[in-house]
Parts: sequence; structure tokens; C-alpha cells
Amino acid sequence: MKQMPVLFVGHGSPMNAVEPNEFTACWEKIGREIPVPQSILSISAHWFTRGSYIGSGADPRMIYDMYGFPRELYEVQYPAKGSAVLSRRVQDLLGPELEVNDEWGLDHGSWSVLLYLYPKANIPVVQLSVNGLLTPEEQYQIGRSLRPLRDEGVLIMGSGNVVHNLREIEWENPGGAEWADRFDGKVREAVEDGDVSSLMRYRNWKDAAHAVPTPDHLDPLFYCMGAVTEQDRAEVFNDSRVMGSLSMTGYLFQK
Ligand code: ZN
Repeated sequence: MKQMPVLFVGHGSPMNAVEPNEFTACWEKIGREIPVPQSILSISAHWFTRGSYIGSGADPRMIYDMYGFPRELYEVQYPAKGSAVLSRRVQDLLGPELEVNDEWGLDHGSWSVLLYLYPKANIPVVQLSVNGLLTPEEQYQIGRSLRPLRDEGVLIMGSGNVVHNLREIEWENPGGAEWADRFDGKVREAVEDGDVSSLMRYRNWKDAAHAVPTPDHLDPLFYCMGAVTEQDRAEVFNDSRVMGSLSMTGYLFQK
């Protein structure tokens, strides 16, 4: 079996789910080009928890965790199955620190992207929460423990945004604020160089307070980086900032 890549997606606005654009076209292309996974482990910024949780149900429910958007967004369905097998396998790999939680399901960090990656919703999806109590190093170590999944047909997907500051949205700005471009570029450099140790110290970087006011949307990247090996190359896609303070930048890691 071919080793699966690791994917980090900048999901941006939930409206991407109902308004196809250049970014979603790129997600579609990735879905067509990478090996077809047997199942997907999605680590979404929108399941940000104290402790590590994983879903296990056969039919993960749709979570509409966004407010004030048009009705059509709350009618989106992504009827992918869950996978008890994958859920159990992750529990084996991560040990007793990980707890099962089926009150959550698929949030828009997962479905707004998976709609394009796998429009038929025919690949089982399990969500793993982002543990907000952990440091980037500890999140990286979880990713490391998940590495064997890549040889078992599992696509590990982190969904967040490198730059994510809703308080500094510039509605009229189609691109990025200067600080957003700078921070995204610095992360890109570290990712391309495989320089995880400087990336883990991003808090000390000049623009971090603006770019990452809360860590939820960046943290999935640390899980992803942990699952990446020295043989992988990072391919950058959707390297853009929108509305000043959101970056769409994504990374596909593969040999
Ligand atoms: Zn988000």
C-alpha cells in the first residue's frame, strides 16, 4: 500500500462550503491527485478541547458551529460514515490519555473542506480534537504517534488557518495585512525547511500576537508536522491571505 500524504488545509470562511472559488478548486484537485484513502482522520481547529477526544460513531453528526451565516450553510450535508476501526486504532496508538466522545461529530473545519476533497462523502471520517492544554511540542508528539496510520491507508488532515484573527478582519481587503503576509511567510519558510523547532517557538515572533491571538487554528499544523517524516517534501498550496487577517495557506506533505 502506498504511504498516504499528510494534509494541512487553511479552511478560511465557512462560506467556502457554498461558494466555490479558487481555493476550493485547489482542494478538489488535491482530492483527485493524491492516493484514495481508506479513511480520514481529521484534526479540526473547531473541536478545541481541554483533553484529547476522538469520535467513534458510525454516523458522525453534522455540527454547524458558526453563527450569523445564510441559511443554506446550515443545510449543507456531508453524510460520511465514521469508522470504529480507525477510532480504535487511534486509541491504541495514543493510549489512555485519549477519550471517546460522540457528542461532537463533523464540524465545518472538516466538512467545508471534505465537500471538495471527496464530494461523494464515500470515505469514512473520524475527528480527533485539538487539545488546547498541550504545548506545540506535545501536539507534535501526538502527530508522531499517528505516523503508522499513513501506511494503513489513512489520510491525516489538519484543518485550521495559519493566520486567523477575526477581530482584525478587513472586509474590503481582498488580500492580507502586512503583518499577516509576514507571519504566513515565516511559517511557510519554517515548514519548507522542516524547521519544526523554530516553528514551535512562534510565540516569540514579532507578528504572533496579531496572527495567532488564540492557538486553535494554528495547532492542527503541529499535529500534522509530527506525522511528517524527513523523507516528505512540503508542497504549498493556496498561499494567499484574505480579508486582511485570514490565511488560506495549506501544505501537502508527501515523498
Ligand atoms: Zn475556522
